Amino acid sequence: MTTFPHDAYLRFWGVRGSYPAPFASHLKVGGNTSCVEIYAGGHLLICDGGTGIIPLGSLLMGQTQIRELSILLTHYHWDHISGLPFFVPAFVPGWKVNFFGPGNTPEEIEKRISGQMQSPYFPVEVETWLASIQYLQMDKGKLTLGPFSITHFNVHHPGTTYGYRIEVAGKTIVYVSDNELSFIDQNIRARAAEMDTQELQLIEAMQAEERDSALQYLHQADIFIHDAQYTTADYEKKRGWGHSCYIDTVNFAADAGVKDLYLFHVDPNYPDLKIEDLHGDSLRIIAQRQSPMRCHIAREGSIIPLV
Ligand SMILES: [Zn+2]
Ligand SMILES: [Zn+2]
Repeated sequence: MTTFPHDAYLRFWGVRGSYPAPFASHLKVGGNTSCVEIYAGGHLLICDGGTGIIPLGSLLMGQTQIRELSILLTHYHWDHISGLPFFVPAFVPGWKVNFFGPGNTPEEIEKRISGQMQSPYFPVEVETWLASIQYLQMDKGKLTLGPFSITHFNVHHPGTTYGYRIEVAGKTIVYVSDNELSFIDQNIRARAAEMDTQELQLIEAMQAEERDSALQYLHQADIFIHDAQYTTADYEKKRGWGHSCYIDTVNFAADAGVKDLYLFHVDPNYPDLKIEDLHGDSLRIIAQRQSPMRCHIAREGSIIPLV
């Protein structure tokens, strides 16, 4: 595999939701958990540190062009951080690794990342990370790292979970690995009978506010990577778990006028054939809506040139 195949590109290293799925029936889509590499002009940004970050780290050890990279974490569930204890550049002196994720201070971010490497859960602690490690803070809601301009927003997923809007190389990439799009709808449905007019109005106002903020973070997005974990039947069983039915994802992205949608964080129980069926159905929905949006399965190893 080539280390830096283009001047600017995005590459998927892990696309699976919840836990790794290294099964023969799953490998065309990929079995590693969330990790996306974005490279531009000698700068490297990594979204999430799931198991996909492990082979990326090994590949980076074979090049001499860069010695610094930044990692954005959406949240600290295992499937998004479990590759970090095996990410080789962090253990090597001379490397610089910057982290950003949910937390009010850099110390809070550090505490959450280092927790999973404490005894008895892991044999070595973050003190064995010999790279220069920095925990970042946004400046007036914005993070600028080389050519990357980054903002974050909250999404519906247990605990504090961020989505990221990343502008680079004239493109806008929006990364939302875990998010339940119908979260408010389902709460209304569950409680509609017991709500008075005032409460219903309040909920409607919340929904309108959400739509506005979603349109803002998706404004003119070129690439939208979003949670598409469940079929309709599985979503019915797992409402409130913090993930979306792929149909909600497709309709939401088409409403927002996204150019390219990538179905991401797919369920580890689904083999390739099932995901291809969901993709086929997504294309049918898009055609029926007469939307110009393109829709793809996020596949491990696939590279999207940005220029
Ligand atoms: Zn996840
Ligand atoms: Zn999660």
